[in-house]
Amino acid sequence: MFQQEEYDLIVVGAGHAGCEAAAAAANLGSKVLLVTMNMNTIAQMSCNPAMGGVAKGQIVREIDALGGQSGLITDRTMIQFRMLNRSKGPAMWSPRAQSDRMRFAEEWRLTLEQIPNVDFWQEAVTGLLIENDACVGIRTALGIEFRSKTVVLTNGTFLNGLIHIGEKNFGGGRAAEKNSRGITEQLLELGFEAGRMKTGTPPRVDGRSLDYSKMEVQDGDANPSRFSYLDTPPLTGQRPCYITYTNERVHNILREGFEKSPMFQGRIKGLGPRYCPSVEDKINRFADKDRHQIFVEPEGWSTVECYVNGFSSSLPEDVQYRALREIAGFEKAKMFRPGYAIEYDFFPPTQLTNTLETKPVRNLWLAGQINGTTGYEEAACQGLMAGINAHQRAHDKPAFTLRRDEAYIGVLIDDLINKGTDEPYRMFTSRAEHRILLRQDNADLRLTPLGHALGLASDERLARVRQKEADTAAALAVLANFGIELADINPFLVAHGSAEIHEKTRALNLLRRPNIELPELTAALPALAEKLAAFGAEAQEQAIIQTKYETYLQKEQQQAQRMRELENFVIQGRLNYGAMPALSHEAREKLLKIQPETLGQASRISGVSPADVSVLMVYLGR
Ligand code: FAD
Repeated sequence: MFQQEEYDLIVVGAGHAGCEAAAAAANLGSKVLLVTMNMNTIAQMSCNPAMGGVAKGQIVREIDALGGQSGLITDRTMIQFRMLNRSKGPAMWSPRAQSDRMRFAEEWRLTLEQIPNVDFWQEAVTGLLIENDACVGIRTALGIEFRSKTVVLTNGTFLNGLIHIGEKNFGGGRAAEKNSRGITEQLLELGFEAGRMKTGTPPRVDGRSLDYSKMEVQDGDANPSRFSYLDTPPLTGQRPCYITYTNERVHNILREGFEKSPMFQGRIKGLGPRYCPSVEDKINRFADKDRHQIFVEPEGWSTVECYVNGFSSSLPEDVQYRALREIAGFEKAKMFRPGYAIEYDFFPPTQLTNTLETKPVRNLWLAGQINGTTGYEEAACQGLMAGINAHQRAHDKPAFTLRRDEAYIGVLIDDLINKGTDEPYRMFTSRAEHRILLRQDNADLRLTPLGHALGLASDERLARVRQKEADTAAALAVLANFGIELADINPFLVAHGSAEIHEKTRALNLLRRPNIELPELTAALPALAEKLAAFGAEAQEQAIIQTKYETYLQKEQQQAQRMRELENFVIQGRLNYGAMPALSHEAREKLLKIQPETLGQASRISGVSPADVSVLMVYLGR
């Protein structure tokens, strides 16, 4: 036997999903083997050097609140931070960081190496060991077999990956890396369905060859925040990004390359990410637009390489190069690497349970891009949930799931397993019907107690949450009790376009008004500022949000409660939906395929109407 140990969990792939899976399971106490093709590319950011953004930033906060690593690693390695959508309501606020690509990967590897029960093995996994419909280990290209109680597959874009640049194509999992063969073929034999997707990336250029004076500067926030709820060191310096635009000359050159485009000539069969289109796709689909925005993003603190966000392309490299050089500021640009597209296999996620375990094979979990998603954050949160659940299974502990009203992570998994996806799935705030409850400011309040009960979130995290809750309640009490005289406040109210008061009032009542904000109010009322100073900024923020959005929050909570009631109605065993003629034909088909575990889950399957849910309720004796 070769270097053999009894593993609780084997994680295949050390991308964003695999790293979170391995760290979570090992931190919970599992003995983990992380097998990856190339240990020099652990936690590689395949595409843009950035974490977070709209809805994705909320996911990173949720990972952190549960005790995952992505937020901590982002904080330690970011070069710029911005809170997006600050001008909108708090449900839309979304943290985004520009990362140091090399430092991010290095920090992940160091983090994993510091967890004593993570072992590493560098090799390609070519097959799974299956006994009695359960996965019991893996086989590598060298023919080595490693056994374990559970396996998590996180192969990303590597399964039969095919890279396209113009008319050239070659096998690869990512630029300069081999693809992975064998796993898809075996899973197909085991009865899985597989599909094909595609994604693409822009060229990288030499920052020394760019003329930034022709571009707009995009600085980070003046007071940068962070992702983790723990005290990670604040950013002291930041690197700016730059904005420039394509133009008609750029578009004309790109159009000349269309006849060699693998996408337009039909050589790429897989569907790509709708919201991250290639530049050729943009000029083709939006022919009336005479320019498209380009963000020039530095790749790190100490490299000259820049990422050309908005210029993803699989046109021939010479076409990319000539077109780039027509962009303002890029006249003398030197290219380091061309953009390319990649096609890869994925497994429709309707084949998974709500823990991401596969239905056909027990003790096997799939997480990340292999499930048809796109994005580091979407991958990382699936890895975290798969790692937690594989650990739970290996130790005969109950499954751990999150509801749609508890976390974006819950929304993502619920969408995947019930609706499936035929194009790369990315998270948006609009996918979460309870988004006002799922804010970046309260992921710790929502999830840290759950992560702590599991044993993943530390005592320190829970203590911070309890302190924040106590401070918020105390700050609310101060606001509710602080009496304000007419003479003290009416000039302030008039100056802020708010109606005068005619009798003494409390601070809380004024804060409920739309154009009265706490910083201005406390500036006008130093005694109030003094009383609130005892509480941290986060608690004050909670108090304001809970005051200003009280009615919306209550309404949302009631709706979530109604959904939970359906969720509590468990469907025991497999039902023969085919023998329920009152169901629509489509509902019967989908219910038979997905076999939902609760009435709530049944109600969210696309094709199952409210009328079908009523039929099910009658059938189930409700
Ligand atoms: P990956 O990060 O791909 O990691 C997979 C890991 O598995 C790697 O470490 C690999 O070495 C390992 N591995 C694979 N097969 C085996 C095997 N058989 N044995 C051992 N190890 C194996 N996301 C966006 O949000 N927007 C974009 O525009 C975008 N563009 C992209 C463009 C390109 C060209 C690529 C490659 C990816 C792009 N992505 C984009 C996707 C983003 O990179 C992924 O969503 C994210 O990295 C997925 O994480 P993952 O952990 O699932 O897989």
